[in-house]
Amino acid sequence: MIHIDGSYGEGGGQILRTSLTLSSILNLPFEMNNIRAKRKKPGLLPQHLTSVRAAKKITDAEVEGDEFKSQNLVYEPKEICGGEYEFDVAEERGSAGATGLVFQTIIPILLFGKRPSKVTIKGGTHVPFAPPYHYLKETFLPTLRKMDLELELSIGRWGFYPRGGGEISVLITPLSNLNPLRIAEKGKLLELRGISTVANLPLSIAHRQKKRTVERLNEFKVDIEIEEAASVGPGTFIFLLAKYENCLCGFSALGARGKPAERVADEVADAFLYHHNSNGAVEKHLADQLLLYASLAKGESSFTTSKISQHLFTNKWVVEKFLPAKIEIDGSSVLVKGKGG
Ligand code: ATP
Repeated sequence: MIHIDGSYGEGGGQILRTSLTLSSILNLPFEMNNIRAKRKKPGLLPQHLTSVRAAKKITDAEVEGDEFKSQNLVYEPKEICGGEYEFDVAEERGSAGATGLVFQTIIPILLFGKRPSKVTIKGGTHVPFAPPYHYLKETFLPTLRKMDLELELSIGRWGFYPRGGGEISVLITPLSNLNPLRIAEKGKLLELRGISTVANLPLSIAHRQKKRTVERLNEFKVDIEIEEAASVGPGTFIFLLAKYENCLCGFSALGARGKPAERVADEVADAFLYHHNSNGAVEKHLADQLLLYASLAKGESSFTTSKISQHLFTNKWVVEKFLPAKIEIDGSSVLVKGKGG
């Protein structure tokens, strides 16, 4: 039984998600205390609880402590069972908990299953502090394809904070091979495009978001489409996809009550400019999300990133609890000697 202190480092949900994933794939039981101890509302919130219960169902695990707000968990997986699954973050109580974070927990598990799977996840699809649907679809999945992974993602309905109610579906083909990933430089910017979206709010907000973004990025050719999304609640979103010669980078921002459309645009423009003007190749969130895959690959992965986040260090610590992978973080470079390497 591996013992994990959930208050380590930034003491957030990432420690739990990475542990559930690796425990399930490697068939190594774990026990965790102080879950999300450093967060304002510690313990298992709906999104975390859904991740625990989803992993439990997929691996037929023996679990203790899978209750709302629980700060302790024992998780003993059995076998990964591919198939058709549906999970709802709001199953127990209303929540716009992130579907993208349940996705982050269970998709790698099903990739290591023996048969194809189809998973539907209901909840927030475009919510703060989580990878939005468009980010997963346009940057995360294409990057995983470079490692030889096959996943298809689609959206049924958008879910914004606080109403949630969105729905994404994923088709997963079990992996036969997991190649290492090497991205040293981003290369030339080939294309910059995006969407500016509103749901249940005046379309003029999407136009204002677009206008300001185009003004802020006037030295680039930016192509932004205006969209109206189907969602149960109101919300606004902007997403930019930067296609570089060697990598895809995604940047996003969300509207909120009382937050002007121009500020949403400034956030996305700032995020893109920060990355574009740095020497790193992989966008900072992608760097922490790729670490687990690189650690499971056979061989040496290496990439540079524009910013080493606290998340990346926390994830390194968790990965090294489960795997003999060796992870070196030096300046903006990440080197991962995968478990087969
Ligand atoms: P909590 O304890 O609240 O659950 P956490 O440890 O899950 O916190 P977060 O900072 O909420 O940490 O980040 C969760 C994950 O979402 C990380 O993998 C991070 O890379 C990803 N993420 C957060 N924001 C974005 C974004 N704007 N675009 C892409 N990915 C994001």
